[in-house]
Amino acid sequence: MKPLFHTQPIHDPFGDPGIYIEFMFDRRALLFDMGDLHPLSPRKVLKISHTFVSHTHMDHFIGFDHLLRICLGRDKELSLFGPPSFIDHIGNKLASYTWNLVENYSNNLTLKVTEVHPTVRKTASFRVQSGFRQEEFTCASSSDSILLDEAAFRVRTMILDHKIPCLAFSLEEKQHVNILKTQLEKMGLPVGPWLKQLKEAVIRKEPDETSFRVWWKEKGEIIERDIPLGELKANIVRIVPGQKITYVADVIYHEDNARKIVELAKGSDMLFIETGFLQRDARLAAEKFHLTAQQAGHLAHLAEVKHMVPFHFSPKYTHQGDLLFQEAMKTFRNSP
Ligand SMILES: [Zn+2]
Repeated sequence: MKPLFHTQPIHDPFGDPGIYIEFMFDRRALLFDMGDLHPLSPRKVLKISHTFVSHTHMDHFIGFDHLLRICLGRDKELSLFGPPSFIDHIGNKLASYTWNLVENYSNNLTLKVTEVHPTVRKTASFRVQSGFRQEEFTCASSSDSILLDEAAFRVRTMILDHKIPCLAFSLEEKQHVNILKTQLEKMGLPVGPWLKQLKEAVIRKEPDETSFRVWWKEKGEIIERDIPLGELKANIVRIVPGQKITYVADVIYHEDNARKIVELAKGSDMLFIETGFLQRDARLAAEKFHLTAQQAGHLAHLAEVKHMVPFHFSPKYTHQGDLLFQEAMKTFRNSP
């Protein structure tokens, strides 16, 4: 199965936390956390459409300036999600620069910023042509865990405790449409851009009797056939569960956090989870409102995830990252 999303940690486990999630069939990407973004090429940064920030501690948020600088001068709408006070944090960052020459910009970079509270969502916009003044503030009641809901996927959140509210995120592909290549050949149909349109029609649940246009180029000429969607689905499509990718940083280990993390991460293909400290330093981890590797491994085990990716190692263990990794993995695989 060709995955829809490709995940790339932005740094090694000792670096700033953050995951770049690229769409394999679209010029688009999502970002979970926004620490230092310099390892990403400008081309990759420009693909980002939505950014999800767990909390605004510096190592999770310092990349905002870099993102903004690369996107300035572009026609682009960038959506950013974060915890309570996030609109102020973005507004204050923007207000720290002088924008007297941007009113004549022909492009209109817009930042759409959403703040997640337990029972409300607050949203505000900041446009380059208005000198990034806060505009269009709305406050709507919502205790829904879904932050973004598109035809092919959704992003959920859970508000966790890091001595401050801290968001964890889960990206869920709704269903995955596989194309059976051998069946395709049997029907005498070549691969081409029409397959992407077919997948989209299947995901949109268009009726089986819909006439679907299959087209390709042969010797410079466009050849087309109209085939009922149901016939294509029955012959060349297989629908399987989609990918699920969950991201958890930074949190203390206690009952309420544990329950929420397991609920959010349940059955994930990949769980990126902070493993800041060794269990022998559990007291220090708790004082700093972080997880130990053993606690992270236990949560990954309870959530029955397929792969756990430990990250966000404390600098205390420089050159000893393998200890954190091993402790997390051992508990993940053998947790009681
Ligand atoms: Zn933190």
